[in-house]
Amino acid sequence: MVSELTKIYRTGSVEVIALKDVSFQVNKDEFIAIMGPSGSGKSTLMYIIGCLDRATRGSYYFEGQEVSRLKENTLAIIRNKKIGFVFQTYNLLPRLNAFQNVELPLIYAGISGTQRKKIVKNALIQVGLEDRLFHRPNQLSGGESQRVGIARALVNDPSILLADEPTGNLDSKTGEEVMQIFQNLNEQGKTILLVTHEREIAQHTKRILHFHDGRLVGDELVEKPLQAS
Ligand code: ADP
Ligand code: ADP
Repeated sequence: MVSELTKIYRTGSVEVIALKDVSFQVNKDEFIAIMGPSGSGKSTLMYIIGCLDRATRGSYYFEGQEVSRLKENTLAIIRNKKIGFVFQTYNLLPRLNAFQNVELPLIYAGISGTQRKKIVKNALIQVGLEDRLFHRPNQLSGGESQRVGIARALVNDPSILLADEPTGNLDSKTGEEVMQIFQNLNEQGKTILLVTHEREIAQHTKRILHFHDGRLVGDELVEKPLQAS
């Protein structure tokens, strides 16, 4: 999927090599944690995998297509239909309730009202929030807000979920509960990639990729993924 990927940021005459010859394969049904110290290239990698940015060299295949050759509007379609994004700070719209936040991508996608209702309810059930439909973000806890964020990422039935530090703003117990949701989704067949700097969180996944100075320095199989207690 990712082959000899290199990303160089140029600012004037200054060059920063953010990723260097990174290669790995992501298979369907995988659940992967990306770990590494600050500045090791994790966000850059997520941006490229999320089709928000392109690599400087190397190739990235998404469902058989070489992403660096695609036009910007094709990339936007892939982002909106094929990739679900989950954010550390949830990125919910404060004036909309949980249902409306989750519904938004479906409105953009032109899905009819009756269909939307069904899909949104189903997504909120999947994350265990069916009793919070009409709560606004400021009436939700951090864990509940992140569940809304995950439900929103699910409604277009993306082929991959990308999450950048999804538990970064949560206490450890709530973080584990959120990881349990990702585990359930993965068991139902979702491919998931998440960035974390917490070993404990990464232990809930099935595979850990370690980055250092833009290089992939370790590819570790998690023998017995942790389950939330
Ligand atoms: P991480 O997510 O692991 O902290 P990043 O991917 O954000 O790492 O950064 C990798 C390197 O690329 C760092 O040295 C960072 O300063 C640099 N970098 C990231 N984004 C930019 C940018 N837009 N312009 C210039 N340098 C950048
Ligand atoms: P664009 O408008 O060109 O698609 P954006 O930077 O607005 O680019 O967003 C990039 C992608 O990130 C979007 O295509 C979308 O899939 C995802 N995204 C951004 N914001 C949200 C959001 N609030 N909810 C769900 N997905 C989002």
